[in-house]
Amino acid sequence: MNNNQIEEKTIVFMERIGYKDTQEYIDVIDIAKKLGFTLGNATFIDETDGFITIDDRKGNLLGTNSSMIIGVNSKLSIEWKRFIIAHEIAHYELHCDKSQYSLSYSHIEKSGKNKKDIEADHFAINLLMPRDKFRKKFEELENNLDYRNKISSIAKYFMVAESMAENRARELRMC
Ligand SMILES: [Zn+2]
Repeated sequence: MNNNQIEEKTIVFMERIGYKDTQEYIDVIDIAKKLGFTLGNATFIDETDGFITIDDRKGNLLGTNSSMIIGVNSKLSIEWKRFIIAHEIAHYELHCDKSQYSLSYSHIEKSGKNKKDIEADHFAINLLMPRDKFRKKFEELENNLDYRNKISSIAKYFMVAESMAENRARELRMC
């Protein structure tokens, strides 16, 4: 899948789940819960950022009452936790075969990204910072703000890390 196809899939996904654009940042926690996920902070002994695990033959994964779990590293900032949740939603949407009689999917975020992780990153970026909303907000920023303050302000608005906002602004040629 190329970036355009992934962006299109993100837009279709948002429409399908009936996401209402009524607040500043995109509430990925709410979206994950609506999809049926139980979310949790996890402690890892290594550099793992998070994981997704789904097995609908088991209703009590990892001692929860759930068959769908997204876990994030408790040490991450709220912005990066949101990114990991969006990334796991992307794996669920793009890479989990939902045509099976019973759903089973598991993936752990370790350093070193494969093709599916790169696709999930693009989906996450489009989910957290939708193109039109991002452009509109960027254009509304005060002209007297310098570049760093613009990036910082837009990152706060979308509740993402500044590096994410900066990459998105570059990608959309806003700066
Ligand atoms: Zn991944």
